[in-house]
Amino acid sequence: MRIGFIGLGNMGAPMALNLVKAGHDVTGYDVAGISLEDIKPASTAIAAASGQDVVITMLPDGQILRKVASEIIPHMDAGTGFVDCSTVDVESARAVAADAEKAGLLPVDAPVSGGVGGASAGTLTFMAGGSDAAFARAEPLFDIMGQKAVHCGASGAGQAAKICNNMILGITMIGTCEAFALADKLGLDRQKMFDVVSTSSGYSWTMNAYCPAPGVGPQSPADNDYMPGFAAELMLKDLNLSQMAAEAVNASTPLGAAAAELYRIFVEEEDGRGRDFSAMLPRFENQSR
Ligand code: NAD
Repeated sequence: MRIGFIGLGNMGAPMALNLVKAGHDVTGYDVAGISLEDIKPASTAIAAASGQDVVITMLPDGQILRKVASEIIPHMDAGTGFVDCSTVDVESARAVAADAEKAGLLPVDAPVSGGVGGASAGTLTFMAGGSDAAFARAEPLFDIMGQKAVHCGASGAGQAAKICNNMILGITMIGTCEAFALADKLGLDRQKMFDVVSTSSGYSWTMNAYCPAPGVGPQSPADNDYMPGFAAELMLKDLNLSQMAAEAVNASTPLGAAAAELYRIFVEEEDGRGRDFSAMLPRFENQSR
């Protein structure tokens, strides 16, 4: 396929390179002037998007997505797939998809889980929203860039799934970290805490697969001085998106709100920025009631 790829950052670059490796003809554009071997450079987003079978965007947020979409949509041919893999608010995803559909394009919102490691290894999970035809157009590319793609429903459903998942993740990480900090103060050995909880009803992905305590459980960012991994500011972004969505549909999410506020304090007022989101554990460790 001829593919235009816009946004060649930490995630976009390895995803685009995997498409090249699989034999696709990829033209890339990034406003920061990033150029990659094997990817044809374009000097504008419009140039990257024109004359392609599929255009993929991997951008920082919904505002930037809306801006880029308004530039490129008029220059894309009817029938072109438009796959946005950025994590953005549900409203922006739906607005961009509506404009794309009006222009006869096949839009899919397809945010990912799996981080930079998953992007490089081609093992991302895609959560997709859009028509059956649009999903079918994008699916062979999901198979290259990822290990799983779930068609979640109509436009916006992919973003909805992503922010609900990450709201659970943020809340669960905080719960796991505060339990470790309490266990410390109760004199409980961290390894014993792990041995019990990882096989009891308190188990979770954050405990079993991404344990926030250094030297306990499988390798995780805690074992690397909390270098991300998944940075606390990215978790804050996703928690804020879940709160925006909850406000828009009047959903009660008290723990989601509390998690967003804790990560906001951690990132904006403390030393959380640039650290893995599991660094909530040393934060709690150093605080008292
Ligand atoms: P990044 O900041 O490394 O990359 C974004 C790229 O977009 C940058 O290179 C930037 O120059 C480019 N860009 C900004 N405005 C542009 C424009 N107008 N035109 C063209 N390019 C433009 O971010 P990232 O880590 O690659 O994340 C991308 C998206 O994926 C975000 O929405 C993020 O929330 C999501 N995500 C990230 C991770 C992760 O672990 N990094 C995991 C899952 C999802």
